[in-house]
Parts: sequence; C-alpha cells; structure tokens
Amino acid sequence: MRKDAAVSEATAATPAPVMGLYDAPMWTSIRERRMRLQCCRACGAWLYPPGPGCPACRSADLEWREVSGGARIASWVVFHRQYLPAYPAPYNVITVRLDEGPLMVSNLEGAVPDGSWIGRRVRLTYAAMPDGAVLPRFVLDGGG
Ligand SMILES: [Zn+2]
Repeated sequence: MRKDAAVSEATAATPAPVMGLYDAPMWTSIRERRMRLQCCRACGAWLYPPGPGCPACRSADLEWREVSGGARIASWVVFHRQYLPAYPAPYNVITVRLDEGPLMVSNLEGAVPDGSWIGRRVRLTYAAMPDGAVLPRFVLDGGG
C-alpha cells in the first residue's frame, strides 16, 4: 500500500510548461480555456509555437486570436513505457493539424479510434492537472 501511495503522489506532478519569450499569452489563454495563438495581420497565417514574426511572410505584425478548437490527427503513438510521473503507461501522444494550420503535439483523451487514428477529427478541450496546471488536450469529434 505504501508503494501505491508513492505512485499517487508522483502522478500528481505535471512537468511545468517551458516558457519561451513569446509563450506567456498562450499559456494565459489556455488557463482561461480559450486558447489563443498568434495570427499574422499581413498574410493571415497562424503561428505555433509563438514567435517574434510570421514564418510565411516575415511580418512582425501579429495579433493573438482564439482558435476554433477544430483539428485533425496527423500522427499518433501509444507509449507503453512510463517516462514522466504525470503520464503513466500506456498513454498516447498525438500530433494534430489545427484547422487554422499549425501542427500541435498533445494527447487524445477519452475514446480512441479503432484502427488508424490519422485523419480523425478532434476538438480542443482542457485538462486540469492535479497540481493546478491546465493543458490543451483533444477528444474525438463526433463528426468523424
Ligand atoms: Zn504573414
């Protein structure tokens, strides 16, 4: 029983987000459960991860906009070995293509697809971690 209690404490730990120069507004919006990413006012491209300028047209005229939450799975994997206390095995990691364009790495919560996950519609949700952190996650979208 002592060992189980130790595992419980360990699973409460979530790795803290790595905060770059441009990341704070994104993590604030995630805590508010309305994720915003930078969008280029010059060409309309969306940026992820956040940065100082548009990689498409090099403009520095960027604004923070809320994403739609729609996405499609571009890649996925299920890990059967535990690497971090907050992620007991087995757990999945997905790469999604947001409807706005950027690729984002996250996890699929809840039901998982039969067969290949690639191309499945997902929508953004938010996971409250035991230590208070809020992380962007995805769930299958009923529309397929
Ligand atoms: Zn641009």
